[in-house]
Order: sequence, then structure tokens, then C-alpha cells
Amino acid sequence: MPLAIFDMDGVLYRGSQVLPYARETLDRLRSAGWRVFFATNNSTATRGEYVERLHSLGLGGDDEHVVTSAYATAHHLERRDPKPRDVLVVGAEALRTEIRAVGIPVRAPHELPGLDPPPPAAADGVSPAAMRAYLTSLELPPAPDTVVVGLDLHLTYAKLAEAQRAIIAGALFVASNKDRAYPVEGRFLPGAGSIVAALEVATDREALCIGKPEPFLFEEAIRRAGGADGSVVVVGDSTDYDMVAAHRVGATGVLILTGLTEEDAARRASGAARPDRVVRSLEELFRLSEFAGA
Ligand SMILES: [Mg+2]
Repeated sequence: MPLAIFDMDGVLYRGSQVLPYARETLDRLRSAGWRVFFATNNSTATRGEYVERLHSLGLGGDDEHVVTSAYATAHHLERRDPKPRDVLVVGAEALRTEIRAVGIPVRAPHELPGLDPPPPAAADGVSPAAMRAYLTSLELPPAPDTVVVGLDLHLTYAKLAEAQRAIIAGALFVASNKDRAYPVEGRFLPGAGSIVAALEVATDREALCIGKPEPFLFEEAIRRAGGADGSVVVVGDSTDYDMVAAHRVGATGVLILTGLTEEDAARRASGAARPDRVVRSLEELFRLSEFAGA
């Protein structure tokens, strides 16, 4: 059976708005016998939360067909030998939840050293020396064996310091994704990649990235689908992430121009980032030979 893997944001919806023909596209593919998977680099929501979001938008899907970078990271850790036994997450609670769900212990946010600076140290712009004195006076626990970094909207200097300490001490260093930006309503915020980059600089080590453009996320979808015994098509809105990852797993990359990428940029993309097909809307998918008969 053919397999379609959809990126979500910018492809099926933007924020809380379902894009035109999204529901019809998924229905049409499912009734034509396609296996339909959803894949996202976002590590701030669990698969369960994505299933709820997809349902509230009328797009269907279940746990088995959603792969997030948090979920793929957890399963990557689970398959490692030796398996991590003590993980520090710089990221969202969803990332901790998915890693714990595969039976790997993860430190709770309240266990982080450096959470309670005294007032002169805590006040921004008052006394860096007081903060330094506080951080260097902490009694530190044994360093975790693994550091996992994702998007953390509550990033602090103390978190970076603890992650840096663990990585320098030899911890495995994994990134759920290295997205430059986090597109939100009407603007960009810094993506997980900006936090990963800070730690790569701080440690002179390179993180193993699980999310797109690396192949792990799509590999996980293909594995869950029981293998790629027919054609695999990825539909995404970014050349650097979706198209590159599609090509790394041997899939056909269909770029849709409803999200991150403008037509000009699509034309300029080269190498593995170059889409095999470009469509302006989901409806246009069905004009492609890949979807003939659907
Ligand atoms: Mg997208």
C-alpha cells in the first residue's frame, strides 16, 4: 500500500485554521487505500495532543499515525545500546512525557540546580556577580548520562549551564530538531535549533539531530507503516527540512506553497532540497501522477 506522510503546519493547517481541501485530501487518500501519516518537528506537544488537535480540525488520525520529533527522539533513545538511564531535557514537558513513556527516567524540572537564585542574583540587570556566585555555590548532583534539547520557551542560563556541564562530562547530546525559527501567529520566535546551537558552541560538540532534515522522523513513520512496500510520498512546505528528509528516506518530495516557502525560493532550491514536485494547493496533488487513481 502506498504511504503518504504529511507535514502539518503550513500544509494541512495554519494555527487554528484548516487549509482548503485538507479534509477532502485525507479522506480521498484513505478511501483509495493510502496509509496516511502525520509528521512534525514540533517537540512541545505529545502525540496524544496532536491527535486531539487533528480531531478538533476534523482531520482524523490516531496515535499510530502521528510522529513528532519528541516521539521519534524517545524511540531513538530506546533503541540505543546502552540505553540512557538518566536524561536531562532542555525542552517542553511533552518531550519528557514521550521519553518517560518508553521507560527511560527523565529528571523533573524542579530537580534542576539553580532554580532559586536569591533576589539580588535573580534580578536581571542588577548583579551578574551575584548570579555567578549563586551558580558556583550550588551543590551539583551527578551529571546525567544524556541531554536532550528541544524547543524550550522557559529557557534559563541555569538550564544551559547544567546541560553544558553534562555534555562536557561525556553525556550523549541529542536534539529533537534544529529548526531555526518557530512560526507563530504573525511572526517568528527562535526555534529549538537556536538553543541547540548555544549548547554546541558552549561544549564544542555537535548534537545528534532526530527531526527533519535528518531521516529519523520519516523512518519512524515508515517503520510504523510496516515498511515501504510501495511508493512513499512526503508532502511538506519547507525545502530545507521536508524535502531534504524526504530524499534521505528515498521518498518523493512534494512541496506545497501554502506555508513557509515562496515560489521563487522553491525554484532556487538545489541538491537534496529541490522538490520533485511543486503544488500550489492540496487539490493540485491529485493532478500528480503519484496520486493517480486517488
Ligand atoms: Mg511545515
